[in-house]
Amino acid sequence: MSTQNITRRNFLTTSCIALSGAATGLGTQRLLGKERTKQTEIPKIDPGYIGPQFFDRHEEQALMEVLESRSPFRYWGSGKPTKVLRFEENFAKYMGARFALAVTSGTAALDCAVAGLGIGPGDEVIVPAYTWWSDYTCVVHAGALPVFADIDSTLNIDPIDFKRKITPRTKAVIAVHLLGGLCDMDPIMEIAGKNGVAVLEDCAQCVGGSYKAKTLGSIGDVGIYSFQVNKMITSGEGGALVTSNPLIYERSARFHDMGTIHGLFLDRSGPSQVQTFAGENFRMNEFTGAVLGAQLSKLDSMLAQLRGNADAVYNGIKNLPGIRLRHRPDPKGDIGYGVYFEMKDKATRNRCIEQLRKRRVPASTLSGSVMLPVQESVINKRTRHPNWPSFNSPEGKKIEYGPDSCRQTLGVFDRFVQVRMGAKYTQRINDYIIDSIREVYNSLA
Ligand SMILES: *Cc1c(COP(=O)(O)O)cnc(C)c1O
Repeated sequence: MSTQNITRRNFLTTSCIALSGAATGLGTQRLLGKERTKQTEIPKIDPGYIGPQFFDRHEEQALMEVLESRSPFRYWGSGKPTKVLRFEENFAKYMGARFALAVTSGTAALDCAVAGLGIGPGDEVIVPAYTWWSDYTCVVHAGALPVFADIDSTLNIDPIDFKRKITPRTKAVIAVHLLGGLCDMDPIMEIAGKNGVAVLEDCAQCVGGSYKAKTLGSIGDVGIYSFQVNKMITSGEGGALVTSNPLIYERSARFHDMGTIHGLFLDRSGPSQVQTFAGENFRMNEFTGAVLGAQLSKLDSMLAQLRGNADAVYNGIKNLPGIRLRHRPDPKGDIGYGVYFEMKDKATRNRCIEQLRKRRVPASTLSGSVMLPVQESVINKRTRHPNWPSFNSPEGKKIEYGPDSCRQTLGVFDRFVQVRMGAKYTQRINDYIIDSIREVYNSLA
């Protein structure tokens, strides 16, 4: 078949067959009759990119509607654009917040949230030491000072260290729900509340997760999400913010549109409370909104599959003598991105990963984020202009980053093993992963 002959229908059918083959290990099973060697008994295990595995006619049809209406821009066009508008309404509903704002990326959503909270020069924002760059850059972009707090065995911010890092200048904390697992929100909200610190939830790696029946992003003052391809639902790139606070919403919506405000946002949040100020352009286009609308309608079933597989593996290894699993403050709300356990030291952790990988189990160190305080550009406080306010205040000049500022985080990172989970894993794959972890763990314990 030449490329030209691949119609859009064919494309989706072929890719679905390829996926189900990979997911069920059919390719491997077919070989079994011919040569029954140990190698062929290992199922093919590839967690893949979750969102695209669920692309089907829904995304296709929604995209076609945008093409046919010739209205790819969210505010106006030759037809009546509704994709981004509807996505925002449905996303807010799903997350249990009053308002949602669709933007171009998770990083843009963080910049809008920080603008929404009114953070600026002189303010301090507490950020976990191990997380994605954007949680640091959004603070620096605002001219504020990033202050790192350690992570604990939740692999997320340690409430005790968060409390320790609060000063009279602390304006907000970014509670990042990393690697599909939840921050312990009760103590975080209590400490923040007592100290007048705003809570920004970064749910980029935990879209659809929940904590004690509350959907992540709706617990703090504002929540952000990413729809980049590595995240739960995806349009390649994209992001969103939710809040139930009309003032935060108006400020964020203004920041995402040069500082001006479209009437549709005020229709949602009420009379304007803020004058125009200098903002950015982070508006989402209708193609992105179309794909995300379709993906959102499948999020529940995606979560059920991914969680089901992670729960199966956690259940299969939890009674190993002495095993220290990742602390999950509400296991039901974890989205199941991976299974995590701690070995006694870095050398044992490395041997564990090596032996699991020999068995073709997708094991690794914690992945997808950055140990921020030890990055050269962070240690040297490099900004886009030498007079940038973040590090020119007395506190900014005094603060020291580097390994001594995040010893606990470095230790946690060094001891944890990650085993990636896939939404399309079969029971055979889950069982194989359980057997492999048990075998390797017992040989090293
Ligand atoms: C991916 C990610 C972001 C940024 O999202 P982009 O859409 O890539 O800009 C922010 N925070 C965390 C924790 C992330 O994983």
